[in-house]
Amino acid sequence: MSTPALKIYNTLTRRKEDFRPIDPANVRMYVCGPTVYDYAHIGNARPLIVFDVLFRLLRHLYGAEHVTYVRNITDVDDKINARAFERGISIRELTEETNKIFQADVKALGCLEPTVQPRATEHIAQMIAIIERLIASGHAYAADGHVLFDVPSMPSYGRLSRRSLDEMLAGARVDVAPYKRGDMDFVLWKPSKENEPGWDSPWGRGRPGWHIECSAMSWAHLGETFDIHGGGIDLVFPHHENEIAQSCCAFGQDVMANYWMHNGFLQVEGEKMSKSLGNFVTIHELLHTEKFGGHPWTGPVLRLAMLMTHYRHPIDWTVPRLRESRALLSKWGKLIGVGVKEHFTFEDEWWWVAGPSVFIQERLADDLDSPGAVASLSSAFDAAFSSNSPDTIRRLASDLHFLGLMDADSLAVWSPIEGGPNDLSPDTIGLVNQLLMSRNAARASKNWAESDRIRDELAAMGIALKDNKDGTTTWEVKR
Ligand code: AMP
Ligand code: ZN
Repeated sequence: MSTPALKIYNTLTRRKEDFRPIDPANVRMYVCGPTVYDYAHIGNARPLIVFDVLFRLLRHLYGAEHVTYVRNITDVDDKINARAFERGISIRELTEETNKIFQADVKALGCLEPTVQPRATEHIAQMIAIIERLIASGHAYAADGHVLFDVPSMPSYGRLSRRSLDEMLAGARVDVAPYKRGDMDFVLWKPSKENEPGWDSPWGRGRPGWHIECSAMSWAHLGETFDIHGGGIDLVFPHHENEIAQSCCAFGQDVMANYWMHNGFLQVEGEKMSKSLGNFVTIHELLHTEKFGGHPWTGPVLRLAMLMTHYRHPIDWTVPRLRESRALLSKWGKLIGVGVKEHFTFEDEWWWVAGPSVFIQERLADDLDSPGAVASLSSAFDAAFSSNSPDTIRRLASDLHFLGLMDADSLAVWSPIEGGPNDLSPDTIGLVNQLLMSRNAARASKNWAESDRIRDELAAMGIALKDNKDGTTTWEVKR
């Protein structure tokens, strides 16, 4: 069977389109990354996971070395300044610390590292260069230490969000300022006070506006035009509209990126999860604490819970959703764990890194139909369960691996499960697996206190652990 053609929904045209890269030897994608001032919440994880799945698919379709995925780190921002001041630490300390946690969180969620993770503070020269071009071509003006983008100078402004000027004015929470010529004009550069981070520029010591960062970093790593630009739906206006204005006017191009993709909101009781509403739970809390649902969840459980819904639809983030995800993973994992012992050796990777089945590819190629892909995993499970043949088990395992839902660690937990505890519900088995994975991670980082705490938690559930000489851990139900 031939590889299915990739179709993606393009916010720019409001249509599903065939994906045609500018250069198939270098497919280029940019996704707006985090502002590193605090723990990321699980809503922020949605674009990370969605575009990681797309990255995996593109690598499969075009070859791993032919895809460049850039996800930036915003390490200059007023929220960062305020938080560092509050905590009495330096800006650098705060951004380093937050970035470290962020990297650990996304790794736990099964996301591959992007090709490049550029930092805003390392691209100030490119930002200044773009601003200089905009001034020279009459699209920006300097006033009072600020530089502003002159919105009326770009007739096609508003094309992405398809809003009228009045709607945009209402949506942008426009700051009125004496140095602005037009209400819609937005900041490219602003002056810094003595105690604020700043860089020398032709307009005095200052710092960049938010939107210019992404124009500079995408230009530096992907060029003037590239294939895919992604982010959450809230970024369409004004952030992405402004990125387009800056990049297109600076480089004299009609397009910045050919395909614009936006994920829908992750919600809590019908409302967008956000820091400002206070209705958030962080990725870190979900992975390591009891805050949501009474105990921690593993990365694969969170990831599958996210992928059970199509990326453009809203998701309601609930405990029953996580339980459902966990039950599925443990059912699949147990079958694989038993199958590994019967048909394969655990150390041989070839059988589970074989690449995605055509069923998974077909679903994902249709605008990342991840719920369809999950349904296909369920069919793979049914086939493997009824035939128990090496081929069917391999399909399930390699599809899970491709989707970032199974790695060597989870396999190591699943494989030693002795056939015994059939009388436990899939949900309980899932919980045990999850605790074992957390304990393995704790042991790997020599966190013995945490490892013992998890052993005790399992003991309280009636589960006894045995650490074997070969490094595996087996468990059984105490009678
Ligand atoms: P922010 O830190 O708010 O700039 O968000 C970082 C990324 O997460 C952006 O792509 C946002 O669109 C996305 N995002 C923020 N909140 C949510 C949410 N509740 N659901 C889905 N995506 C979100
Ligand atoms: Zn951006």
